[in-house]
Amino acid sequence: MSSDCTKRPACAVLLAGGSGTRMRGTVDDKIFAPLAGEAVVAHVIRSFRESGVAGTLVFVCRDAAQEDAVRAELCKLEAREAFAKIVFCRGGKERRDSVLNGLRAAQAAGVAEDAVVLIHDAARPLVSPTALREVYETTLREGAAVLAHRCVNTVKRVPAETRPGTASETEDLDRGRLWETETPQAFPLGKILFAYERVCAENLTVTDDVSAFAVALDGRVALVENLSPNLKITAPADLVLAEAILNLSARTA
Ligand code: C5P
Repeated sequence: MSSDCTKRPACAVLLAGGSGTRMRGTVDDKIFAPLAGEAVVAHVIRSFRESGVAGTLVFVCRDAAQEDAVRAELCKLEAREAFAKIVFCRGGKERRDSVLNGLRAAQAAGVAEDAVVLIHDAARPLVSPTALREVYETTLREGAAVLAHRCVNTVKRVPAETRPGTASETEDLDRGRLWETETPQAFPLGKILFAYERVCAENLTVTDDVSAFAVALDGRVALVENLSPNLKITAPADLVLAEAILNLSARTA
């Protein structure tokens, strides 16, 4: 695997700048929570290393202490030499501000305007190297791609003012057309940076990177179907579930 960024121009922006309040204080920082013998973020680093897609890694960290702890994980995994460049920047108030900071840091690190950038939540440790390669290759072919799975639940839309416990009208959405997006979400750096500059400057509401791309640029995105679990560690039970999934895949491998 080459660590030369001219041979691997793509970049991964790994987001760790959130507050993690939904873990309700059970762990100091969910990205360092133990998972199958390693920190959550170590699984993410391993997957990107094995995928070979990105020459540059940008870690978006909450503060200096978190950055130091990520550096320690990189040393433990002897992962530094697998990447041409690893850079760090600070997160912002909202996820969108953190993404913008990460994209600016990628540009400052010399990632080309037309290079693919894969934006990934550092709190999604189960993403596989195969999925990362698929997202990368689909982006090269289609212009933008997102890992996603089909919606298995029935989803109801209700009027904005509806409160739980109070009767309201419900509207059915066609489940056959509903997909739940995951990360990574991947785009050419120049385009997604332009989109986020606009989203943040105009205070536009976006829930993920695909929304930013669509709202600011009217951009089309290819769905990459992921049949494997890629859960985001959000609540304490997610760690137990992720551990069980990893144990099961180790047994069936
Ligand atoms: O808050 P949520 O779980 O949706 O965050 C998804 C990812 O975005 C997490 O990896 C989190 O650390 C990151 N994030 C960030 N900066 C924020 C909010 C969230 O980097 N201000």
